[in-house]
Amino acid sequence: MLIGVPKEIKTHEYRVGLTPSSVRELVHHGHSVIVETLAGAGIDFGDDRYRAAGAEIVGSAKEVFDRAEMVVKVKEPQPDECRMLRRGQVLFTYLHLAPDPRQTELLMKSGAVAIAYETVTDARGGLPLLAPMSEVAGRMSIQCGAHCLEKIQGGRGMLLGGVPGVPAAKVVVLGGGVVGTNAARMAMGLEAHVTVIDKSLQRLKELDLQFGAELNTIYSTVDAIEEYVTGADLVIGAVLVPGAAAPRLVTRAMIAKMKPGSVVVDVAIDQGGCFETSKATTHDDPTYVVDGVVHYCVANMPGGVARTSTVALNNATLPFALALADKGYRRACLDDAHLREGLNIHSGQVTNKPVADALGLNY
Ligand code: NAD
Repeated sequence: MLIGVPKEIKTHEYRVGLTPSSVRELVHHGHSVIVETLAGAGIDFGDDRYRAAGAEIVGSAKEVFDRAEMVVKVKEPQPDECRMLRRGQVLFTYLHLAPDPRQTELLMKSGAVAIAYETVTDARGGLPLLAPMSEVAGRMSIQCGAHCLEKIQGGRGMLLGGVPGVPAAKVVVLGGGVVGTNAARMAMGLEAHVTVIDKSLQRLKELDLQFGAELNTIYSTVDAIEEYVTGADLVIGAVLVPGAAAPRLVTRAMIAKMKPGSVVVDVAIDQGGCFETSKATTHDDPTYVVDGVVHYCVANMPGGVARTSTVALNNATLPFALALADKGYRRACLDDAHLREGLNIHSGQVTNKPVADALGLNY
């Protein structure tokens, strides 16, 4: 199969659909890969590395879209990219169609076969192609939170782990899923005092087994959230209710009771956020202050560490990309019910029920 990788065109998007190492793997399976020039240049995957892996470098996105049988990307296709897709061509990328009727319409019109990373499932009911980005965001949240606690950033002027003779910061993580577990792990690594609050007892038990006495696990109630959030130096928002907006667990009144210069990092901002005071920010201007509390609410945190994110994403997507290339999308989706869940658009129709329901379209 001829697989194509265009350069991502959203502002400050440096991730790329295939790493040189993934290209080599596809070529090893007998496929051909074309990569738009400079597609990975922003994260030090230069054209030479792609050539060395067996790819052909082409001069424009148009050439990639015109020639490729399958296009592999990271972000949802922008309108100009949608218009370059053709009937029967496979598109494998994040789509997030539910809140995006315009993109859905353009993809339906193109006749392309659109397979979305975010709806591919695994045997345990997880979302294996979303998980790597949650791992990245969870780990990054502590790095960002620690930075925001510095005085010059508006924070309390506090070191997360303290030093001998000076207490460490109190970190509270709301939601102990993929983001929350990774955040807790990083915060514990920096020797902060860490509490995870979750409404799933099962999840709390697993975390307790995994981390032992070093981690404080608390069942999620309004009472517990108020007590722990108002006493914290850093709060990470990492809750998710699948298919719904994030629950607003922390009210403005609780924020007002926090210590001046404390920090909240709302990773769940991409689902609306779990603090009443949250509004989405960007890497260009990531923070703002409400009632003396620094808010970091970047909606695409993994984009900030594009190199790590690209490799992490490829580790998860490569087996599926190989199956699609080796077998063709029909056989690959017939053989693998989890990959089939990723099929969002086929022959001009939305083929994923939750996505169709969210958009009020026929399924
Ligand atoms: P997950 O499903 O693995 O974990 C969510 C956890 O929240 C679960 O353990 C669940 O029990 C818990 N939860 C739900 N309601 C709760 C409540 N009322 N109180 C306490 N806990 C509650 O999800 P995840 O992969 O960890 O993702 C978390 C959020 O981070 C999602 O909104 C996701 O979209 C977002 N995210 C954002 C970025 C970003 O760049 N901002 C990147 C990746 C993920």
